[in-house]
Amino acid sequence: MGAVVWYRNDLRVDDHEALRSACEEQDTIRAVYVKNHKEQLFERGAQQAKFEEETLANLADHLSQIGIALDILEGKLNEALDSYLQTDDTVYFHKMTGTEEAASEQYVKDRYTVRSFETQTLHRREDIGSDELKRVFTAFRKRVEAKGTFYDPLDPPTGIRLIREESVKADPEIAFPFRGGESAGRARLQEYLAEPVFTYKETRNGFLRNDSSKLSAWLVNGSLSPRRVMAELQEAERKKGANESTYWLYFELLWRDFFHLTMRETGSRLFRSNGLKEEQYTWKTDQLAVERWRKGKTSVPFVDAFMNEIRETGWMSNRGRQIVASYLIHELKQDWRIGAQYFEQQLIDHDVASNYGNWAFIAGVGNATRTPRFDPVFQQQRYDPNEDFTKRWT
Ligand code: FAD
Repeated sequence: MGAVVWYRNDLRVDDHEALRSACEEQDTIRAVYVKNHKEQLFERGAQQAKFEEETLANLADHLSQIGIALDILEGKLNEALDSYLQTDDTVYFHKMTGTEEAASEQYVKDRYTVRSFETQTLHRREDIGSDELKRVFTAFRKRVEAKGTFYDPLDPPTGIRLIREESVKADPEIAFPFRGGESAGRARLQEYLAEPVFTYKETRNGFLRNDSSKLSAWLVNGSLSPRRVMAELQEAERKKGANESTYWLYFELLWRDFFHLTMRETGSRLFRSNGLKEEQYTWKTDQLAVERWRKGKTSVPFVDAFMNEIRETGWMSNRGRQIVASYLIHELKQDWRIGAQYFEQQLIDHDVASNYGNWAFIAGVGNATRTPRFDPVFQQQRYDPNEDFTKRWT
């Protein structure tokens, strides 16, 4: 009989309720992570896989400080877990957003003793009431802001000291050279909160290193906890003063919460062609048009630049994501889910709720009350007037 921490998108030791509880309650602990268990429509981006490898290596180093080995399995999730777990194991894990994720949680619950915890979002469904989620972001935001309190992050279990790393060095060729792992995530958080965050609201639509936080990849695979980010943000505000920009980073983290809680509320509906809407939608699927979009050969330079960037680096700015999604949906009239699936395989920071939620939003089948459309020519004049970004990537 033993305890197993089942690692998922919570690849850290800090603010890890499952790990902390296992350490407090059990003498013998193993840790397990199953990779490559999802079926892929497109080939998985190399950058995504590299980020995962780096993250797992850092996590294994942290866990080894208290004698826990991280076992990495591959294959179908339930089968892999069954082959690893003993019938009398207690499985400690964090709940995750997503229908497949929820199904595998149920599978494990049905067969083993479990202890499950909730740290993926800043706020929780029970804090809000489901009616706000079915409406719009603003109603949700007002409700959580009225609540006004946050869950405090937990320190790592006794005996683990976070390995310190320098933040990744700037590379003039790309927006941000991501490096996986909790240590790299914490270094980036520190670097961003020291200065750049105080002008975030003005710079966030840009394409360069410090124009936005670049925290998403670590938040997505859980090597950074949103509660730790929030606590550090509040600390930065206490030291240097809160302003509109520091509030805006919180505001964007609320979007992340909103999409997560929406998906938890609406199950698999965000994967349907009509998303959260009742009326039916007909989308085209023209393979040639999708291929041109994917390969950066649409002949619209701004769109092509972003599509080349994501293919080569696994990254694209929020402005870029909005422009290329709008182009695929509203100009090429393609099924928005093809775009979402391509992002799923490429983005270093792919997050099922944020990705499908944002794509559905732009397609007009999500929570939006209007359908946003981005004219790439106007967008280029506004956000890349000297064409520096476009020239770099075309
Ligand atoms: P910042 O601007 O510094 O924002 C701070 C954090 O807030 C981000 O790290 C992220 O966690 C959260 N955030 C910001 N904007 C959004 C948003 N619109 N929706 C949800 N969370 C947000 N974000 C993902 O994390 N994963 C995805 O797979 C993803 N897919 C997207 C697909 C489309 C079509 C669009 C339009 C947006 C998508 N986003 C996704 C949201 C957003 O583009 C990224 O979170 C952001 O670009 C990450 O960069 P950053 O960390 O520098 O963000």
